[in-house]
Amino acid sequence: MAHSCGHTNTHDLSSRSADQRAGYARWLAARQCTNCWRADHQADAASTAEWLAAKRAAEQAAAAAWATQFDMPPLEGPERILDWGERTRHQLVNRAYTALVTEGFPVKSSVLSESASDSVSSSGVTSRGRLQPASVAACPPHLPPRV
Ligand SMILES: [Zn+2]
Repeated sequence: MAHSCGHTNTHDLSSRSADQRAGYARWLAARQCTNCWRADHQADAASTAEWLAAKRAAEQAAAAAWATQFDMPPLEGPERILDWGERTRHQLVNRAYTALVTEGFPVKSSVLSESASDSVSSSGVTSRGRLQPASVAACPPHLPPRV
């Protein structure tokens, strides 16, 4: 049996019924042999781990720089999760900032006052990209507006 990688392997097709063997043989031939597949797979896993480590390091550096810039208090906790905590804090604040300030908070027009709806589009995004007071009052959105 010749595989797509050029290697030849012997496969026992006796467990397959006669009418399935041809299809199974075609399927096998389109694939790498077991050794090549395993080698490729391990290389992938190794490069993924390497990529992840590099990404983590970059995030860690960004989080540390951010914490220093904004004078964030040092985190306390078990040593092994401190790095994770610092990255997560940075990501949370970044995402919150993006959602609330850069993109604007999505606010249903029904909870906006008449005057606010003039300056806030239906999506809650304003032309200046700033959070409007009406949007703040409507936050958090899962709570019903005060009567
Ligand atoms: Zn091979």
